[in-house]
Amino acid sequence: MIRHDYSRVEPKRRANLSHKKKQFAKAEFQEQNYEHRLNFYILPPTAEITLEEFEQWAINRLKVLSELEACTFRNKSPEETAEYMKSILDKYMPMRAGTSKSQYLQEERKKDHYSHFILRLAFAATEDLRRRFSRLETMLFQLRFKDDDFIERQSFVRSLNLEWDEVQEAEKRELKDRLLAAAGGSMKNSDEQEWFKVDWERVPVLVEQRRVFVKRGKAYVPQREQMSLVVAEFTKKLDEALELTSRALPRLDEDDRLAPILAHLSQSFTAPDAAYSSSDANIDGLSAINANSIDTLSQNFPLCMRVLHNTLRENSHLKHFGRLQYTLFLKGIGLSLEECILFWRKSFKLMTDDKFTKEYRYNIRHAYGDVGGDSNRRGRGYTPYSCQKLLTEPLPGPGQTHGCPYRTFTPDNLISTLQRVGVNERDVLKTVREDVGKQRYHVACNRVFEWSHKKEIKKVKDDGSWSATDLDTIVHPNTYFKRSWLLKHLGEGNTGIVPGGSGDRMEE
Ligand code: SF4
Repeated sequence: MIRHDYSRVEPKRRANLSHKKKQFAKAEFQEQNYEHRLNFYILPPTAEITLEEFEQWAINRLKVLSELEACTFRNKSPEETAEYMKSILDKYMPMRAGTSKSQYLQEERKKDHYSHFILRLAFAATEDLRRRFSRLETMLFQLRFKDDDFIERQSFVRSLNLEWDEVQEAEKRELKDRLLAAAGGSMKNSDEQEWFKVDWERVPVLVEQRRVFVKRGKAYVPQREQMSLVVAEFTKKLDEALELTSRALPRLDEDDRLAPILAHLSQSFTAPDAAYSSSDANIDGLSAINANSIDTLSQNFPLCMRVLHNTLRENSHLKHFGRLQYTLFLKGIGLSLEECILFWRKSFKLMTDDKFTKEYRYNIRHAYGDVGGDSNRRGRGYTPYSCQKLLTEPLPGPGQTHGCPYRTFTPDNLISTLQRVGVNERDVLKTVREDVGKQRYHVACNRVFEWSHKKEIKKVKDDGSWSATDLDTIVHPNTYFKRSWLLKHLGEGNTGIVPGGSGDRMEE
């Protein structure tokens, strides 16, 4: 389904394809028509897409799934999750109802279909990834199912041919009392709605919660519980498909176009990747940053950068990887090259000018793209590191302080570091400890952010000046800074600005 400038089949060989293979190839490139907004993803995609579409659609879906996962980590109720996810879905995977008659319907549904299958490939490799993917996809399906137009939803359910037996009128009358008893007294008459008979194993949750009547191995499910039935079926089919995909995966390793993209996507389950957006350097209301302002601004830095800043202040020195991480971050918040050189020169106060110029100045200029590098990077230098990069690089050695402290510090050391920067609420620290124990490092960081800015977040939510995507999960240290600064300076001439979510315009 991938189209690219180069093909793995040489033109000469292609001409000799057998009759059967040609037939198969023709069938492979059919455009599909998407009749429904909801999809059980039974048929794999067959049309061509470019490698860029392949990657971008998958990244957008991943963003949606990871925001859903973040909702469960933060124990949001189903209503809060639906509310929060609305604008995330509108931004990354809009899916209009058929009644909207939008000209984008087919395109939106196609992206949904393809991105599901791409992530299926990326997350089929291990049991753990499969389980997570299945759980999040089920949540997404359920969210859309609830939100779907009633008539379209019914038409979709009918199209599934799920082999449910409709309970006939005579049987309904015969079992009336038992059906109503199982329905919990909320229904006056069993004629009020349709009932279905299914094998009880297909609705274990309803049986466990005694919300259905069971007779001779069949559960009698009222139509209002239809969602449980459909969702259980969705999960069952997806789990089976993931098993099959995992067995087919070794063959994909041979594809040198897809393997690196899929590897990158599955890594993004640690923390979704976000490339640096230059909008993070344009902060309305923040006057030009210079070498002297960094101490004050460090109050708004994420822990990874605060640790580097504090180490630099304590030792008047920082090791190579820490310097690089911090330089790129400072560049990303808008510090000019000249001011950055001045900042490091002043910070390395125990060092002679000569030594600084010989050993350190060049590396700073290099990071900014002022010298060295290939012609592509010249003038731009390197991009500030994302959380994903910091969370997946090799652990720092003795004396090094780069990386993400939520991952690199021991839990006790992390908690005392957080206390030193003012995070002193016992419950928050306890949950952070649990988060890092489960390797949910960026979730812990977001939890600390939310706690440290809770008053301000409440304000922008209450007055509606920021949307849910403006407050989505932070996955880039530069987004952390920008959002923190804006929130802490509300009402100082920066209200009404769009703060720029972590998934904004991507730039390498
Ligand atoms: Fe920095 Fe990201 Fe770690 Fe937070 S999660 S401390 S922003 S690397």
